[in-house]
Amino acid sequence: MTMSSGEAGLLSEPPLLEVDGLFVEFRTRDGVARVLNGVSYTVDAGETLAVLGESGSGKSVTAQAIMGILDVPPAVVTGGEIRYRGENLLAASEERRTEVRAQGIAMIFQDALSALNPVFTVGFQIEEQLRVRLGMTRKEARARAVELLDLVRIPHATRRVRQYPHEFSGGMRQRAMIAMSLALDPDVLIADEPTTALDVTVQAQIMDLLAEIQAERRMGLILITHDLGVVAEVADRISVMYAGRIVEHADAPSLYRRPGHPYTAALMDSLPRLDLKGAELNTIKGLPPSLLNIPPGCPFHPRCLMAQDLCRTDVPTGHRLGLGRTSACHFAEELVRSV
Ligand code: SF4
Repeated sequence: MTMSSGEAGLLSEPPLLEVDGLFVEFRTRDGVARVLNGVSYTVDAGETLAVLGESGSGKSVTAQAIMGILDVPPAVVTGGEIRYRGENLLAASEERRTEVRAQGIAMIFQDALSALNPVFTVGFQIEEQLRVRLGMTRKEARARAVELLDLVRIPHATRRVRQYPHEFSGGMRQRAMIAMSLALDPDVLIADEPTTALDVTVQAQIMDLLAEIQAERRMGLILITHDLGVVAEVADRISVMYAGRIVEHADAPSLYRRPGHPYTAALMDSLPRLDLKGAELNTIKGLPPSLLNIPPGCPFHPRCLMAQDLCRTDVPTGHRLGLGRTSACHFAEELVRSV
């Protein structure tokens, strides 16, 4: 059977956003920190990818590289591509990157208080983008800002729109940030630890809100977090990062059922268990490596309970564990079988 050109076009459509073999170094006075070492992931419309790992694993640096907001210098991108709808953003002009940043890919940050400008009202900060980017009048932009605050369930939006960030609670500020990031209707939203500073109840509300908005708008959502518990309900796929690499990539149900990398297993073990009240929390022994001096072989070997001699000398590459599932561990197959 022959394929029509329309069908061929559909089949070859590139992912919405694709990070492909990204390398980033920070050239500092103390030496070269290899912050990203060949990071690859994709996200498509209507999909939630969780990027998981401890501080310093490279999750946020990857997001900053996607947004084009890395501090250059000391940061230098030394390899790879970041493609938005097939276009390599690393080769694009600054003007084009600003355009994509405004309407294609938006980001919400962990600390809404420092991300919002304290001297302008919340409404003004939303409206400014609408006027500058979409050419709305003041009146149109105000009406849209109120709609957006309503959308993120800020009560009394017509009054709140005239208030300053310090007049909002932590949870409300995070909602305002989400409203701001949605103003230009982005295709992809990157949420960098969006609930870390909030209490557990508000965390759950914000996660529900993000999941709902993402499903309604068919956005691609990249959720960056150090907490496997936060993403359990919402992620379609999970990429686990360690020392600037993706060490495991899997669909969420498979990963929760059987972690395919000892680091993922250790993260899961350190989750608090409701059924073991009063029990001590497991923690991962040791610290993540200095990126100025990443250990040879598998970077996780000094902390890994399964480490063997091979791990101290040979860098594990991505072992396929099934459709769309990889693990950078020499013993991934044994681990998956043993669980
Ligand atoms: Fe542990 Fe070796 Fe696997 Fe690295 S390669 S995670 S050290 S077992």
